[in-house]
Amino acid sequence: MNLILLGPPGAGKGTQAKILVKKFDIPQVSTGDILRAAVKDQTPMGIRAKGYMDEGALVPDEVVVGIVEERLAKPDCGKGFILDGFPRTVGQADALKKMLAGLGKSIEHVVSIDVDKEELLERITGRRTCRGCGRGYHIVFDPPHVQGTCDGCGGELYLREDDSEETMRKRLDVYEQQTAPLISYYADESVLRSIQGTGSIEDIQQKILVIIKGGKG
Ligand code: AMP
Repeated sequence: MNLILLGPPGAGKGTQAKILVKKFDIPQVSTGDILRAAVKDQTPMGIRAKGYMDEGALVPDEVVVGIVEERLAKPDCGKGFILDGFPRTVGQADALKKMLAGLGKSIEHVVSIDVDKEELLERITGRRTCRGCGRGYHIVFDPPHVQGTCDGCGGELYLREDDSEETMRKRLDVYEQQTAPLISYYADESVLRSIQGTGSIEDIQQKILVIIKGGKG
């Protein structure tokens, strides 16, 4: 199953992807996670990407397309994959189509998760991430047992620089301008389904499962 989770930052793509990974035993390919790891390791790509990410802008297409091309060629993507945070521009979507065709594959489902802007702002600015293992929390909706500390590894929780309110507003504008056009792009390809991303994590997961099990489009 080759799936794209589409939606603005904070829509719950990463949360839903992680549940699907367990259910279907296929990897989550998150360009945001890969880029953050590169920033942390201070690789040349990470150093190049950091400025864009801190500002809430998109990293240039050729960088992220390269990341995804390398990742999708790995054997664990053979049974399928869940793309989370990619593609984010029409150029990336075109590049993806080309690279998948070269591998004899295509995208079967694109699930667009819709959430209104004010709710996204509340969700994102309450987000905390563990410095140690990367696990995500929310100070209201999913708090750790001990404030500021990861339940899993005891690491320190922090607010991602790009999750501040100012940067978040910029990221939402970027989504509207550059990523939202992918909704009609994939509707034209008859693989798009939209769901409301409000309600419990389980409810949203059920809606995604109905789409996946229901076949194409
Ligand atoms: P995310 O965790 O998916 O919200 O991504 C965090 C940041 O990484 C974004 O705000 C961008 O700066 C960068 N990024 C992640 N995925 C992409 C992509 N597909 N295209 C361009 N930039 C990306």
